[in-house]
Amino acid sequence: MKWDDFPEWGARVSEWAADYHRTVGERPVRAQVAPGEVLNALPGAPPEMAEPLEQVFQDFEQIVMPGITHWQHPRFFAYFASNAAPASVLAEFLASALAPQCMLWQTSPAATEMETRMMDWLRQALGLPEPFQGVIQDSASSATLAAVLTVRERALDWAGNARGLAGGPQLRVYSSTEVHTSIDRAIWISGIGAENLVRVPIAGDWRGMDPEALERAIKADLDAGLVPAGVILCVGGTGTGATDPVAACLAVARKYGLYTHVDAAWSGSAMICPEYRHMWEGVEAADSIVFNPHKWLGVQFDCSAHFLRDPDSLVKTLAISPEYLKTHGADGIINYSEWSVPLGRRFRALKLWFVLRAYGLEALRQRLRNHIDWSRELHDRLAAEPDFEIVTAPMWSLFTFRYTGRGDLDAVNLALVNAINDDGRIYLTQTRVDGDLVIRFQAGQFDATREDVMMAYDVITEIARATQ
Ligand SMILES: *Cc1c(COP(=O)(O)O)cnc(C)c1O
Repeated sequence: MKWDDFPEWGARVSEWAADYHRTVGERPVRAQVAPGEVLNALPGAPPEMAEPLEQVFQDFEQIVMPGITHWQHPRFFAYFASNAAPASVLAEFLASALAPQCMLWQTSPAATEMETRMMDWLRQALGLPEPFQGVIQDSASSATLAAVLTVRERALDWAGNARGLAGGPQLRVYSSTEVHTSIDRAIWISGIGAENLVRVPIAGDWRGMDPEALERAIKADLDAGLVPAGVILCVGGTGTGATDPVAACLAVARKYGLYTHVDAAWSGSAMICPEYRHMWEGVEAADSIVFNPHKWLGVQFDCSAHFLRDPDSLVKTLAISPEYLKTHGADGIINYSEWSVPLGRRFRALKLWFVLRAYGLEALRQRLRNHIDWSRELHDRLAAEPDFEIVTAPMWSLFTFRYTGRGDLDAVNLALVNAINDDGRIYLTQTRVDGDLVIRFQAGQFDATREDVMMAYDVITEIARATQ
């Protein structure tokens, strides 16, 4: 294929994409293929000779499309949404045509400076105070890894990178029992070790960390000669939206001089609405905060916003060239690769710029408020049904419930989720709450309507009662 052929194919692909999005609601949400079906449809060996793109495109439709789960489907209520607003897709198209590497200021000044400005726009949109500066990471997992590495280096007085951990002090990191698995992995990879991630018990309706239990755990570790190093808080956990009492936990962490990171990967987007900011009240005392515009805000994957109250510790941990430490930002030049684990960086700020301008904050707030209102309406309707019970109350647009039919309720509800997903009109996932298997509902797809959310009520009640 030559660039001369590109305009024709580009037009065809954008036609295809617009049509796909117009009609995606007619497809089953979850892919209905069996394991191995796609693999077996793909030749075992690579082609020696060029094939016409026409043939490749046909195979894309025939082999790939049946194996796609439609994350852009308006009735995708599983996991969390992974949105791709059209303005964001266009920006990604441009970014992939330019394909710049954005690791240093000089490797594309526009990308670096756009990133600085977009992260400051987001900081203001979330109501975070001025000292916070931001960097775009590929994922919340990477942001959390960078934060945990900072926890480690700060506690070791920046000697860990040089000397390794053998023979050093036993570092301790604290989180609630409800945090995302990305925290476990950051603890493994950083060498801190899973046994040193202390799971502080939760309390209260928000299933958040008990700050008194946090302080007891820190004191017990100090008494035992261990070295408390950091606290990882959760605002809007993945299973049920668990949310730690941020101000109280950060106060304990500060009292003991610990580095703090807040994982608000999903719910952070909701903080563009001032009425939700009380749910992370006190967050301005955190050292590090992450949220994913690539979940709820309409910016397509990957785009994770990582804010630092003072980037120095992070840069001191990750910058490979010591001389840059003295100048980063001070001379007006930032090399963002010093703020993240990978060296190479995509031009991700462009899609934030497109999305924020093409919709404006007010329309984005309206979308989120709609999702939250409709999810509550669905919650109220299921709560009123005698054979359903709400297990965890709505946190933003997320709640969990179970069907209380006959038999082993874990098995009944797992069978119900599977039957619903085989049906294809909606897509849900399950989680465990205090050991019980429950069904999880969240609304967050960019173009979902109230009717889409209400269809979940019809599908859930109909299939539950039909299978009993
Ligand atoms: C989705 C999610 C993550 C992981 O996000 P990635 O960007 O996929 O790494 C982490 N924490 C929470 C609470 C999440 O919901």
